[in-house]
Amino acid sequence: MAAPRVPIEVDPESGVWRTDGLPMLYVPRHFFINNHLAVEQALGRDAYAPLLYDAGYRSAFTWCEREAETHGLAGFEVFHHYMRRISQRGWGLFAVQRLDEATGEATVRVKHSLFVEHALAGQGDGMAGLAQCYMFAGWFPGALAWAARPLGREPALACTEVHCAAQGAHDHCLFRVTAG
Ligand SMILES: [Zn+2]
Repeated sequence: MAAPRVPIEVDPESGVWRTDGLPMLYVPRHFFINNHLAVEQALGRDAYAPLLYDAGYRSAFTWCEREAETHGLAGFEVFHHYMRRISQRGWGLFAVQRLDEATGEATVRVKHSLFVEHALAGQGDGMAGLAQCYMFAGWFPGALAWAARPLGREPALACTEVHCAAQGAHDHCLFRVTAG
């Protein structure tokens, strides 16, 4: 497979990175995860995970809106575009295993999640054994809800990580999006 090309523009005046017109950050993975784990430790997972879910949902929704305009895409095409793009940015490799466009329900497999890679590299003290990738849980329903809007509704969706590769029994993480 040819390496996917990711368009990146660096503004010589401001140093801001952009892809498809959207400002981006390029940071070391350990820096990002250390921030994430610091907040998890301070708030506790039960408080932190729902906050991340809502923020991720809104961000995915907004991203889809912007990308649809930029590329002239519509509906579930944008969801598939989203899966491809996040797979090119170091978060992991995202594959849609099942998608029901009538309800927005889906199953998404993730290989090489950044959290799993970090934990398996022995860099995440206390990370092994627990599902680690709950940051992604809001992303899929946010993008799916955006995609379903032209059908006349924004479905109420929920999403959980069914199993995580960091738990050791599988080589991938699995997320299930269900209609409420
Ligand atoms: Zn996982």
